[in-house]
Amino acid sequence: MAKRDLRNEKLFSRAKNYLVGGVDSPVRSFHYVGGDPILIRKGKGAQVYDYSGNKYIDYVLSCGSLILGHVHPEVIKDLTSILSSGLSFGTTHKSEVELAKVLQEAIPQIKKIRFVNSGTEAVMSAIRLARGYTDRPKIVKFTNSYHGHADSLLVKAGSGLATLAIPVSSGVPPEFTEHTLVVPYADFSAIERIFRKYGPEIAAVLVEPVGGNYGVIQPQTSFLKYIRDITQRYKALLIFDEVITGFRFHFGTAAEILGIEPDLIILGKIIGGGLPIGAYGGNDRIMRHLAPLGKVYQASTFSGNPVVMQAGLTTLRVLSQRQDDYKRLEIFAEYLTKSIEDAAKRRNLALKIARFGSMFSFKLNSKRYFKLFYQQMLKKGIYFAPSEFEANFLSFAHSSKDIEETALKAKKVISTL
Ligand code: PMP
Repeated sequence: MAKRDLRNEKLFSRAKNYLVGGVDSPVRSFHYVGGDPILIRKGKGAQVYDYSGNKYIDYVLSCGSLILGHVHPEVIKDLTSILSSGLSFGTTHKSEVELAKVLQEAIPQIKKIRFVNSGTEAVMSAIRLARGYTDRPKIVKFTNSYHGHADSLLVKAGSGLATLAIPVSSGVPPEFTEHTLVVPYADFSAIERIFRKYGPEIAAVLVEPVGGNYGVIQPQTSFLKYIRDITQRYKALLIFDEVITGFRFHFGTAAEILGIEPDLIILGKIIGGGLPIGAYGGNDRIMRHLAPLGKVYQASTFSGNPVVMQAGLTTLRVLSQRQDDYKRLEIFAEYLTKSIEDAAKRRNLALKIARFGSMFSFKLNSKRYFKLFYQQMLKKGIYFAPSEFEANFLSFAHSSKDIEETALKAKKVISTL
């Protein structure tokens, strides 16, 4: 049971004096679940520790980035050994070339790649590239999908906008979203209508192949194949936003699992091993439109810096050596979610879990129940994502003991709801 201790609360109250709402990203504020957020002092493997000394099993994992868990020894060892050589040079670095090579070899559609510093930046740049390449202005996205906080995409989005019930962000002039067409996911006739009406103006369709920002949303393969066909018919690009899903289910993309070949793939999170990263890649014909070869401009001071590149490189090396363990992650996730669902069924509690591979999310019949469930689990040392709209993740560091402990605690909590 988490101890009551004022250290965490005091730090959060101090944070509010200096940071807006005490945070640098809205969902972290626990706005949805209420109460003070836990502030994490350190992590190790699948565990994190707050400033009050409480230990939690972590299913947030820096929003899905830390697939190897916290402070993986090989990642830390490689980082430590390169730190003394310098942090950032603003020139191409060997680790950058190596990481690009690993990604090119793992992902058939990627012949060239560009690294940036976040998923947001990667999406924003990939859209610019799609517009530059096709010489068309419009982008199609899906209701409740989230692709980072670029102005033109902050419309009917998931993640923090869903959590805070913000349909369109204030501060975005209507002209900035004028070329964003929003279609309900898996609505074949809506996408057909959009293409019939705007086809020659559509540069790209942007989609999360497995939804991770309005709870977990199962991929509809036939729909994704349909948008592959329709984009080809209208000579628009298909962009898969794999910021969450890249290297989450196997050593590669969700595109590969689903048997679909997008034109551009956006990566982030896992490929940076826990440090800030984004990347986008595709075939040479498209990618060469980027400056310095082409006229689509995109630049950055810190992109490809050796520290981030090394964290990504070592993470991918470990993942490639442990590819069989992905199956274990899925088995753990299936066991955990099924145990929780069974406990809820026995109590007649309307708790639904959506899962794909090692990512899952909860929905309860009311926000009040979700809050109760969440707060009780947190008190018992289980750190889930603090919103029904955010995904939870497993890491290679979670043990069967962690999973069993979580399932048992969930059963106890459910029996009291
Ligand atoms: N795309 C998707 C699918 C995401 O889930 C996110 C963030 N969770 C982003 C883009 C934005 O990434 P970042 O937070 O690194 O800017």
